[in-house]
Amino acid sequence: MLGWLKKRREPRPIPQALWDDVLARYAFLRERPAADLESLRQLAARFLQQKQFAGAGGFVITDPVALAIAAQAVLPVLHLGLSWYDDFVGVVVHADEVVAERTVVDEDGIVHHYDEVLSGEAMDGGPVMLSWRDVEQAGNTAHEGYNVVIHEFIHKIDMRDGAADGCPPLRSRAARVQWLGVMKPAFDEFRERVVIAERFGGQEPWLDPYGATAIDEFFAVAGEAYFVNRQRFQAEFPQLVALFDGFFAAKDAAAR
Ligand SMILES: [Zn+2]
Repeated sequence: MLGWLKKRREPRPIPQALWDDVLARYAFLRERPAADLESLRQLAARFLQQKQFAGAGGFVITDPVALAIAAQAVLPVLHLGLSWYDDFVGVVVHADEVVAERTVVDEDGIVHHYDEVLSGEAMDGGPVMLSWRDVEQAGNTAHEGYNVVIHEFIHKIDMRDGAADGCPPLRSRAARVQWLGVMKPAFDEFRERVVIAERFGGQEPWLDPYGATAIDEFFAVAGEAYFVNRQRFQAEFPQLVALFDGFFAAKDAAAR
């Protein structure tokens, strides 16, 4: 089964053939600088050592499945470090999207039930759930800026301070004010474009409209695009590229 994934003190290096398969599958990984790729490979090996994968509904976790997830999951923390994911160990993988039954109570105290279709979910302090079909397709959906693994792991980074508020934990209150000073106007503008497109038939924005639902979703959706289609993201959201570079690529930013 999970031959080389068995728990060991030192992470076991990822076999070359498996690593080559992952790079062949995901161009947005393959096209990164060689130094990044080496760090990514080492970090992915440590991720596989530290996390526990579980298949749901009979889905079988194979080495290629676990590695495909690990290699994408560590991309956001390539320069930040794996300790950002210390608050959980579980990664639950379903074969496909999952229908979750939700309940909300409205202002009049009436309980409403509805179904939500999920391709992934990140719980505060708990596991990350992913749909393998979406993970597997990530190479083909990168042009849309879509990537479920990165989306959920950016939620993890956002929630590291206990609040899913579109702002990761930062070194000072001033840094937080500065972050939200860029993020909030970008979110408001995006939401307006989505509303205009939906209600008045305006041109649909490039980014997934799901990002208009809340600022933490906007952070996750924008983060996906930043990591898998930087060029297009740069054209659409130049102010966010600068903001994200300053956080996710801190070492690189310092060197510039
Ligand atoms: Zn989300």
